[in-house]
Amino acid sequence: MRDFETVVGLEVHVELKTESKIFCSCPTAFGGAPNAHICEVCAGLPGALPRLNRKVVDHAVMTALALNCEVTRESRFDRKNYFYPDLPKGYQISQLYAPIGRDGYVDIEYPDKKDGTSMLKKRIRIHELHMEDDAGKLVHDPIKNITKIDFSRCGVPLLEIVTEPDFRSEEEVVAFLEQLRIMLRFLGVSDCKMQEGSLRADVNLSVRPIGQTSLGNRTEMKNLASFRAVAKAIGYEAARQWAVVSESGRIPRETRRWDEEKEMSFPMRKKEDASEYKYFPEPDLPAIRITDEKIEEVRKQIPELPSDKRRRYIEQLRLPAYDAGILTSQKPLAVLFERTAELCGDPKEASNWIMGEFMKILNDHGNSGEDFDLRPDSLGEIILLLQKGRISRASAKALLLSAYEDGSIPEKEAEKRDLWLIGDKEVLRPIVKKVLEDNPKALSEYRSGKLKNKQFLLGQAMRETKGKADPSILEGVLQEYLESE
Ligand code: ADP
Ligand code: MG
Ligand code: ZN
Repeated sequence: MRDFETVVGLEVHVELKTESKIFCSCPTAFGGAPNAHICEVCAGLPGALPRLNRKVVDHAVMTALALNCEVTRESRFDRKNYFYPDLPKGYQISQLYAPIGRDGYVDIEYPDKKDGTSMLKKRIRIHELHMEDDAGKLVHDPIKNITKIDFSRCGVPLLEIVTEPDFRSEEEVVAFLEQLRIMLRFLGVSDCKMQEGSLRADVNLSVRPIGQTSLGNRTEMKNLASFRAVAKAIGYEAARQWAVVSESGRIPRETRRWDEEKEMSFPMRKKEDASEYKYFPEPDLPAIRITDEKIEEVRKQIPELPSDKRRRYIEQLRLPAYDAGILTSQKPLAVLFERTAELCGDPKEASNWIMGEFMKILNDHGNSGEDFDLRPDSLGEIILLLQKGRISRASAKALLLSAYEDGSIPEKEAEKRDLWLIGDKEVLRPIVKKVLEDNPKALSEYRSGKLKNKQFLLGQAMRETKGKADPSILEGVLQEYLESE
């Protein structure tokens, strides 16, 4: 039995997927030679003036709406001043006083640890959403024992999503982050690749005795590079704090670094107060006015969100929750599923093919389903051919593989490989007749009661057609002969 409660609030940074940076026209592309993508604005040369990228505002408004936030009609930027080698301007352009979005929420759903099947639901409140520019990257060279700076990331647009301290366990935090990631990808505002740093979560955590209503002192943990690290770090830090608190010690307000290898957190620096950043309104950028028309325009562009899709798949298409969860975990899978179900008219069959054979193909190709090239009609066309008895199951699988690997059109590929099944009784009759003539013993045994010989005869006939007979029609023809003479 735990005698304490863990309280967590998140600050999530998301790199926006725009062509150019937030305040200049340098490209945002990840990778490339160090310092390849910089100019006087993002490199912070004196006198250079920022200009706001409209696309960033559109993405921010769309995200604010999807997070059920109030969109701020007159949003402003502020300067957050601090000195650090990766920040050439000496300040970050962020939003303190009038962030673009406020007071939202996300409803999370996650499996109950106790029974493993039922789902727990919870509303996580969003305190605010704001826009800011990213800093550069320090690259440590342990061999030469020097640190190099890559400024190419300076000015990449970021959204920071700040939650209320509503989480009580690592399961809730991970469920939130997973759901947020899927949602932002569906919106198309970010790739959310944790390994490339385009989704980064800072964990604010405190502990308190069960029953206490006021919050304990918190620490903030940075450098969490995966969901697994987030879960581990929360477990570790909560236990560490409780050990201190239950010895009647005090938790100092500090920023801690999570060490992924040691699986421990270490103090990094004393937590700054907002006043230490000497925030002031950014003088080089005007306020952003967002009209009702603009909000409506953006709202119309919001695609059906994964949580709504999931519900629709379960309630209207009658899919099991498990299938619906997987099919809505990646946008391309959902697109493929919807088109396939529409073409073949059988959602469960479409789901079975995607969750079975198609996932296997993806897996064999080391593809996680985030991005693949299959033409969305392909699978539906294949299932239709199968339903009409024109191809075998094995051929259907081969056609799917070919469509995935080479983009082949199933119908043409079946033609090319001569995969059509023989469903014409007139063609099958002489074949069956010949098999019966060639196997008089099996036939007479069948007639005197050895019924399992039918299976043998069917196999022989199938072999005669080189496996190309429609099995049910072939069996029908054989049955006719067995019953007649
Ligand atoms: P600051 O301005 O010092 O960064 P904020 O009020 O902006 O602090 O909160 C930052 C994050 O810390 C938010 O996600 C919030 O939910 C979380 N937080 C605040 N107080 C606590 C606490 N006592 N325990 C856990 N998380 C907290
Ligand atoms: Mg803060
Ligand atoms: Zn630039």
